Amino acid sequence: MTARPPWLADQARELLAQRGHAWLLHGPSGLGQYRLALELAAAWLCDRPTADGACGSCDSCHAIEVRTQADLLVLMPESAMLALGWPLSEKAQGEIDDKKRKPSREIRVEAMRDAIEFAQRTSGRGRGKVVLVYPAERMNTVTANALLKTLEEPPGDVRFLLASEAAHQLLPTIRSRCLGHPMRWPTQDEALGWLAGEGVAAADAQVLLAAAGGRPEEALALSQAGRDARQWSQLPKAIARGDVSVLADCTPAQAIDVLQKLCHDLLAARTGGEPRFFARADLPAGGGAGGLAAWWRDLAGEQRSAEHPFNAGLMLEALVARARTALHSAS
Ligand SMILES: [Zn+2]
Repeated sequence: MTARPPWLADQARELLAQRGHAWLLHGPSGLGQYRLALELAAAWLCDRPTADGACGSCDSCHAIEVRTQADLLVLMPESAMLALGWPLSEKAQGEIDDKKRKPSREIRVEAMRDAIEFAQRTSGRGRGKVVLVYPAERMNTVTANALLKTLEEPPGDVRFLLASEAAHQLLPTIRSRCLGHPMRWPTQDEALGWLAGEGVAAADAQVLLAAAGGRPEEALALSQAGRDARQWSQLPKAIARGDVSVLADCTPAQAIDVLQKLCHDLLAARTGGEPRFFARADLPAGGGAGGLAAWWRDLAGEQRSAEHPFNAGLMLEALVARARTALHSAS
C-alpha cells in the first residue's frame, strides 16, 4: 500500500463535506482520481468515518482492503481490474483462464448489468452502497446509456463515483447527471515529497516529474518502468542519432508519447517558449520549424494505429527513423 498523496487529502475532506449521489472526478491521468474515488468510497462505507475520511480499521475498511466489501462494486475494464487487484466475476475469470478471450479494455455490458442489479439490491451493512467507475471514458455507448438510466433514477441508497482521465469522451448526459470535481494538481513540493516516499531517488524525481508533465503517478510509473534522470536527459540526442535502443522497452503507444514530448519541446524552443518535459540543454540543435510541424502531425496520425500495431518492433524503428528525419530537416 502506498502512502496517501497529500494533495488528495484536502480534496477528500472537501468532497466528504458535500452531499451528492453521483460525482465525476476528472482531469488528466496521473493526478490520482482512482485513489481519490476509492478513498471516498471507503469513507462513505466506513463504520467510523471522520471528516478526513475512512478510519482504516473497521470491518468495512478491512473488507475494502482485501477486496471483499459487498457494498462496493467497481466497474472497470477487466485489464484495469487485474492491474489494480480487483477480482473479476467467476464467469469472466473462467473465460479468460480458458483463453476464450483476452481481458477487456473497455467496460463490458455484462459488468454494467451486474452493476445495475447491484444498485437495486439492499445494502448488506446498512451504510448504503457505492459503484465506482474507472476509467469512466471506457464505457461504450451501450454501457453508458445503461448507466445513465440508473443515474437518472437512482435507487435509494446507492452512490456513484465516476473517475475519468478523458471526461470529454463521456456522453454529455452522463456528465450533466454528476457533480463535477476537477482534480487538483499537486505543488512541485508535494509531488516530490510523495515520490521520495515511494522510493524514487531525489536525483531522479525532479527530472521524471518534468518528464511526466508534472503528474506524479505518471512520474512514479516512469521510475517503475526503469527510467532514470540520466537516461531521460540522454534520450533526445540518442533519437536524433537514430538510436532505437532508447525506446526498446516501450510499447508503440509509449514511444509515441515520448516522441510527442520531444517534438513539443523542440517546437516550443524554436518559437521562444520553454521546454516542458526535457531540459533545454538536452535538446538536439537540429530540426526546422516546418519539419517539426510535419512530424507533429504524423505522430498524431500514428497514435491511432498504435493500439494494434502490425509489428511493434518495426513500428518503433519507423518512428525513430521518422524522428531522425525531422530532427535533421533544414526548414
Ligand atoms: Zn472504517
